[in-house]
Amino acid sequence: MSELVGSCLCGGVRFEVAEPFLMLSYCHCTNCKKLSGGGGTANGRARTAAIRVLEGEGLLRTYQPSEGTAKTFCSACGSNLFGGGWPESEQASVRLSAIDSPLDQKPELHNYVRSLASWEVLPDDGLERYELRRP
Ligand SMILES: [Zn+2]
Ligand SMILES: [Zn+2]
Repeated sequence: MSELVGSCLCGGVRFEVAEPFLMLSYCHCTNCKKLSGGGGTANGRARTAAIRVLEGEGLLRTYQPSEGTAKTFCSACGSNLFGGGWPESEQASVRLSAIDSPLDQKPELHNYVRSLASWEVLPDDGLERYELRRP
């Protein structure tokens, strides 16, 4: 598989992930709800060294919540792009919503299902579910 490319909503930020994701997962935590505008985030885990910002590095802003890891978004359009402490952590999360390439990998699990919203229903997809995150 060649590299994946991704972008934000306004197109100001473009990036690539140079190797297949290590793992895909959903996160239903309260932080991911706030930042995503939905039930949470869908994430691909990648080595930080494999993520390269191609355009718009100056548009990126990183927010460090009081709990959890740093989240990075486009300051022009608000698209959430990276989590998991990017770019300082060894591995980071890439929001699958930002990926433009066809993706042949599927999420393996749901994290933070204890934070499911009253308006949110987990799909009957047979995936593993974790109250917090997979240990
Ligand atoms: Zn943008
Ligand atoms: Zn989360």
